[in-house]
Amino acid sequence: MNETESPQFEPVTDADREIVAEQLGRPPRALRAIAARCPGGHPAVVQTSPRLEDGTPFPTLYYLTCPRLSAIVGKLEAEGVMREMTERLAEDAELAAAYQRAHKSYLAQRDAIEPLGHQVSAGGMPGRVKCLHVHLAHTLACGPGANPFGDETLRLVRAEGWPAGDCAQDNPQ
Ligand SMILES: [Zn+2]
Repeated sequence: MNETESPQFEPVTDADREIVAEQLGRPPRALRAIAARCPGGHPAVVQTSPRLEDGTPFPTLYYLTCPRLSAIVGKLEAEGVMREMTERLAEDAELAAAYQRAHKSYLAQRDAIEPLGHQVSAGGMPGRVKCLHVHLAHTLACGPGANPFGDETLRLVRAEGWPAGDCAQDNPQ
């Protein structure tokens, strides 16, 4: 895959929009696409426009919406996983290089939609690890190898039992 191009994502249906609004507790803003779904079928990651409808920059291109995933990731963050990841960046040149590639690819995909005129990506890339939700969303949207800490976070959330419940199987209601 060309690293500067976003994967082709599904268009957003009205049903998706309703589910994302329920997940977030508010209507989604600047929603472009459903970038990943949980195995049960509900949206897990949305792709958001680089600017909100009112023009406010929104640098987070991939946003984790599944409440269950968000809760597991929040627990990992509270356990101090990010500090340990950031420390490894200083010691592991290969990891640091992969994280730099994730940063560049993230920016290129975002700039291809609308440049924000700065080189800040998201989640602390490329020097620090500041938000695992951002990294997991990046990996779920773009696939394994897109973001080394997203890949690690995915392994960790699987070890916590995800997918289970609605994430494994949506209730047909
Ligand atoms: Zn889910």
